[in-house]
Amino acid sequence: PELWSNDFNDFICKCLIKDFELRPNVFELLQHVFIKQIVGREKTLQKQLMELIDLNQQMGVIEKTRHERIHTKKGSYMKSQSQTCDDVEDLATLEVLDENTITEQLQRRYATEQIYTYVGDILIAVNPFQKTELYTPEHSKIYVGAKRTSNPPHIYAVADIAYQSMVSHNTDQCIVISGESGAGKTESAHLLVQQLTVLGKANNQTLQEKILLVNSLVEAFGNACTVINDNSSRFGKYLEMKFTCGGTVVGAQISDYLLEKSRVIHRAVGERNFHIFYYIYAGLAERKKLGHYKLSDSKTPKYLHNENVKLVPDIVGNAFYKEQFETVEQCFKVIGFTLELGSVYSTLAGILNAGDVEFTSVASEHQTDKSNISNMAVLESAASLLCIRADELQEALTSHCVVTRGETIVRSNTVEKAIEVRDAMSKALYGRLFSWIVNRINSLLKLDSLSEDKGLNIGILDIFGFENFKRNSFEQLCINIANEQIQFYFNQHIFAWEQDEYLNEDVDARVIEYEDNRPLLDLFLQKPMGMLALLDEESRFPQATDQTLVEKFEDNLKSKNFWRPKRVDLGFGIHHYAGKVIYNASGFLAKNRDALPADIVLLLRSSENELIRKLVTHPLTKTGLLFTLYKYLTPLVGDATHHPRETTNMKTQTVASYFRYSLMDLLSKMVAGQPHFVRCIKPNNDRQAHKFDREKVLIQLRYTGILETAKIRRQGYSHRILFNNFIERYSILAFRANEEPPMNPETCAVILEKVKLENWVLGKTKVFLKYYHAEQLNLMVRQTT
Ligand code: ADP
Ligand code: MG
Repeated sequence: PELWSNDFNDFICKCLIKDFELRPNVFELLQHVFIKQIVGREKTLQKQLMELIDLNQQMGVIEKTRHERIHTKKGSYMKSQSQTCDDVEDLATLEVLDENTITEQLQRRYATEQIYTYVGDILIAVNPFQKTELYTPEHSKIYVGAKRTSNPPHIYAVADIAYQSMVSHNTDQCIVISGESGAGKTESAHLLVQQLTVLGKANNQTLQEKILLVNSLVEAFGNACTVINDNSSRFGKYLEMKFTCGGTVVGAQISDYLLEKSRVIHRAVGERNFHIFYYIYAGLAERKKLGHYKLSDSKTPKYLHNENVKLVPDIVGNAFYKEQFETVEQCFKVIGFTLELGSVYSTLAGILNAGDVEFTSVASEHQTDKSNISNMAVLESAASLLCIRADELQEALTSHCVVTRGETIVRSNTVEKAIEVRDAMSKALYGRLFSWIVNRINSLLKLDSLSEDKGLNIGILDIFGFENFKRNSFEQLCINIANEQIQFYFNQHIFAWEQDEYLNEDVDARVIEYEDNRPLLDLFLQKPMGMLALLDEESRFPQATDQTLVEKFEDNLKSKNFWRPKRVDLGFGIHHYAGKVIYNASGFLAKNRDALPADIVLLLRSSENELIRKLVTHPLTKTGLLFTLYKYLTPLVGDATHHPRETTNMKTQTVASYFRYSLMDLLSKMVAGQPHFVRCIKPNNDRQAHKFDREKVLIQLRYTGILETAKIRRQGYSHRILFNNFIERYSILAFRANEEPPMNPETCAVILEKVKLENWVLGKTKVFLKYYHAEQLNLMVRQTT
């Protein structure tokens, strides 16, 4: 308080104006005082200062000072101060805690390129939309084993905290990254992986290299250019880094969720197909191999049509694509794909050729129309690339077999039907190729000798954010349900579990109100009357149409979060936690059935290409559903016994049931570990640096529950440790090694008092600690040992 004398204000002003080359400590102090104390309190002084200082102009100095601190590993000032003074690096410690203050703080920090901010132990990352100096090797170094408050907030700190708590508590960890499309999730995931390989000191250089390459490879196949993000992930990704109990990284595994494979055959205006198609086109052209893969250098394949660009000349001459092709091929080789590469390219080229097969309608005696192939040469190209017989492909596309009373009858396909079959084949081939690549990467990155249950792991979840477009279809519904589920997990973690525990342990903590989205999950996932169950049921009726489906929804879904908008054919609305979305049910049944005609399956199984045969032979299912999930989520996820298993017949497995299953699989993995959250915020819709749209940020803060999080983090006890565990872990701080203190609450109190911590509480069976206590204790243990 004595700092607030006028003399001191004068002093600050002078320093700020005249001398920026102060010792880093003093500069830190100035920053603190300036941002935290003056702002909002001393309006006149603030104004005066703002006039005097052009923050932008001073950025260089701030950067320089930061670097100095990094190089000299100073920061002693921060250490001693952070516990006593309001630390704006952590919003949970703000005195005034409302939407406006939080937005203002984020904006202020953003203006000085401080894109990271904590809310308790949750990291907020505001997308800078430009290269920053935040990820140098020096940065990487100072966030290793550091106390969180001794450095500015950073994504590397999250990696470090997860790593430290994995090693010291011997438990799996899970980092959940969320945010809307383009908010920076995938970038954050990269940075985490990068830092975790540093922390996990892979003694095997190639393994480290391989893990880093996995991302580029998977992204080439799973990402695409959309109107929102040039490198938008069109699948959900859960990457598990595997470590030994000692903390050395030994491998990695990826699970993919819900690849948007409809993108192969159809894209919204202004969007593109998966990157890899463009990369191989340019790369093969460079190697004069387009002819070998039956790709034209003048005519654009239909699947790559885009209204704005004359694609082929554009692609073939694109230096970036060529470069990416080389990178992808390099990744394939380093990770260990060898012989299969040619097959991967011909499958992709086969898909592009199949897309160009055209049909004409011919009148026939018995049926009004049947279909003929009008460009046989293209069909032959497709067949040769897929290593199947052209006449058989022709037959499979233009006709189908029906079995009635033991007799097999061949029926012709209409043009419409033939196109449907063709596209279903392309989608299936691509989807399975993607899964095959992911599985292959997993087996190539399998750990040497370590048996799986012995090691530890850190999972990183990067899953598409909430989507609300002009037209929303089945894919958006699935994505939004996944987000609903993750939000629920977040709420559970932050609010519900916390409050239950207070209640059970007789600990007094004010109840925080939060938006519970469980009714929405019930609406989607309940059996037999939830939306996905109804969708599945309707998909089993051959006569059902998308119209009967929406009617079924309307008749059975009794929820205020569901409605039928007037004047929208096939429309229905859902009020998600993140906002209202109108969906269009057109194509829902077909997309859910995702049927690949039996004739096509049989044909592809006869392929002379081993890869193609593999793609259609093994049903692609995921194993390892952990029933631990149901301990936490039983009432809401519905019937645990009806998940598709390996034995499930592929023909009957719908997208909805597979999706529900993989969601559960994912959640079970998350629930099994200790979670960490990174919330990505998109500061504007124009992908522009230095632009902070307050309204936009506010909406994101609102629907991600960051405000409530800040409150509960400040009031709550985020760490709750059983007395015994606490004593085992921390007795070293108050007792000699040969002493054996009694395992009771009193001993816990002795330890906590000895190390002079305050504001902790003892419950019935556990010690309740604030998030910063845990950090302090762990640091003290490290210093002692
Ligand atoms: P999301 O996965 O959430 O859709 P991305 O991670 O693909 O979003 O980010 C979109 C774009 O924003 C990136 O291509 C990059 O240009 C920019 N971006 C995101 N995070 C950062 C960062 N930390 N530093 C610099 N640029 C970033
Ligand atoms: Mg992404």
